[in-house]
Amino acid sequence: MCGIVGVVGNRNATDILMQGLEKLEYRGYDSAGIFVTNAQHQSKLVKSVGRIEDLRQKLGIDIAGTAGIGHTRWATHGKPSIENAHPQTSTSGRFVLVHNGVIENFKEIQDRYLKNDRFIGQTDTEIAVHLIAKFAEEDEKMPVLDAFKKALDIIEGSYAFALMDAEDPETIYVAKNKSPLLLGLGDGYNMVCSDAMAMIRETSEFMEIHDKELVVLKKNSAMITDYAGNPVTRDSYRAELDLSDIGKGTYPYYMLKEIDEQPSVMRQLIQRYTDADGAVNVSDAIVRAVQEADRIYIIAAGTSYNAGFGAKMMLEALTQTPVELGLASEWGYGMPILSERPLFIFLSQSGETADSRQVLVQVNELGYPSLTVTNVPGSTLSREASYTLLIGAGPEIAVASTKAYTGQIATLAFLAKAVGETDGLQAASDFDLVKELSVVAQSIEASLSEKDKIAKIVQNRLLTTRSAFYIGRKQDYYVSMEAALKLKEISYVQCEGFAAGELKHGTISLIEKGVPVIAVLSDPLLASHTRGNLMEVAARGASTITIAVEAVANPGDDIIVTNVHPWLSAIAMIVPTQLIAYETSLQRGLDVDKPRNLAKAVTVE
Ligand code: GLU
Repeated sequence: MCGIVGVVGNRNATDILMQGLEKLEYRGYDSAGIFVTNAQHQSKLVKSVGRIEDLRQKLGIDIAGTAGIGHTRWATHGKPSIENAHPQTSTSGRFVLVHNGVIENFKEIQDRYLKNDRFIGQTDTEIAVHLIAKFAEEDEKMPVLDAFKKALDIIEGSYAFALMDAEDPETIYVAKNKSPLLLGLGDGYNMVCSDAMAMIRETSEFMEIHDKELVVLKKNSAMITDYAGNPVTRDSYRAELDLSDIGKGTYPYYMLKEIDEQPSVMRQLIQRYTDADGAVNVSDAIVRAVQEADRIYIIAAGTSYNAGFGAKMMLEALTQTPVELGLASEWGYGMPILSERPLFIFLSQSGETADSRQVLVQVNELGYPSLTVTNVPGSTLSREASYTLLIGAGPEIAVASTKAYTGQIATLAFLAKAVGETDGLQAASDFDLVKELSVVAQSIEASLSEKDKIAKIVQNRLLTTRSAFYIGRKQDYYVSMEAALKLKEISYVQCEGFAAGELKHGTISLIEKGVPVIAVLSDPLLASHTRGNLMEVAARGASTITIAVEAVANPGDDIIVTNVHPWLSAIAMIVPTQLIAYETSLQRGLDVDKPRNLAKAVTVE
């Protein structure tokens, strides 16, 4: 989770680390810190709880550092505090370590190797740096690299490590397992970072680090080996990232900007997945992989999981293959009985979701084909799956995902359509996806113009409530699940997305005076049934709100969404609910983009 940045070479290390940490802020964190040093062995360790801005205030006089490591922490072991913030140091202060991830056997390590050590905080990371120091200090002849290796052979769990030895200001030692980490190569300086985004100001030349590899990083070299010491040769690559993509522009929050970008995400997807004649264009190999499968398993977490549901109906109709959804964090610990020829589809905005990766590793071991649908080219899930489809939604910075959800469903629509067409399915040729997605883009634009109306609804009905419900049937139920998640994430209102007909089988006991119940109504065959359920809760005091497509709208409905193709209704119906979540968070005075306890890329189990 969260972020690491390191730099060594002919640059002002403090500046680079601080700018890097600012770029990593979006991933969510609770504390931060940097260590910088220089050839004169001057060094400085600064940490703070809270924002990077607080860390900046504490920096004091610059020591003209030429190397250093920085970290944003999302606490897993021990509360957010200065003691627990990284960099963590050994008892002597000689070894300095930043870490993302979770060391699973930290207690055993402490009991077995570090019985007599005193610890300042509670982190698993502090145990790791003490272990490295123990090996390096008990045998003076042992090179630091060997001590690090020895520790890595013992450490189990997920980690991205950047280690410095205060006696050697020209080297950063790096290792990773299951947590993202990447090298950035410059002229006379090199960097390491959890995210290319935090390095694009300095370089566009990157090099991957794979799990269980070690890197000795110096200003003019990056030497990669495996843990046994065998050298690894790897080409660097240039990235297509655009710095202008990550600015907030005139928007108060990234989330609003990203909600607003959704029509253009739809249009860009049309360009990405159609050829000059407007025909759908998805790689033959991927289409074949779907055709060969007798069942599609969509594995995901959070919003991506809900996106999988949003696409399920369309995928089944057009591929004529059953689609089963799996929560990555559950499937990682045991899969159900699989069909004979499964295809796994991984949905992940970041492509780094640790829970999904855990399933992918097993899928690869079993030799089954896999497809990752992600927003981040070159991400771990993309590299390790058989195939990738990119969403190309541009960087999604707000923790609450919006355009990645709609982008994922639209991307899967291209896949579904391509497979159906190849199969010669009439329904597929009748489904004019380019036109339908353009209609969706327009529908989103129409919903975006209702911001003031939605702000009023929130002010009158959602401003002080502690709980709320979204209800719907079928596709509208799936939308309700995502709508509820969005509201929970950023407004802290306890909200459930419920199958409308299921409410009366227990949960309706929670309905009391004033509880908002929001109905999602897009299906002409089902809308009247959901309206019936709305009457039931209204009779018990609920404050009911309706979001309806024109085709099923009644006079008095609160929010009307212009008509879209039923297979794409999740994309259009979600937008008003994103705005409801945004407004509720905003009007409650909360940090819309960085909700408490959450991180953008969930790279721990
Ligand atoms: N497990 C470490 C801690 O709690 C690292 C957390 C992180 O990835 O930021 O300090």
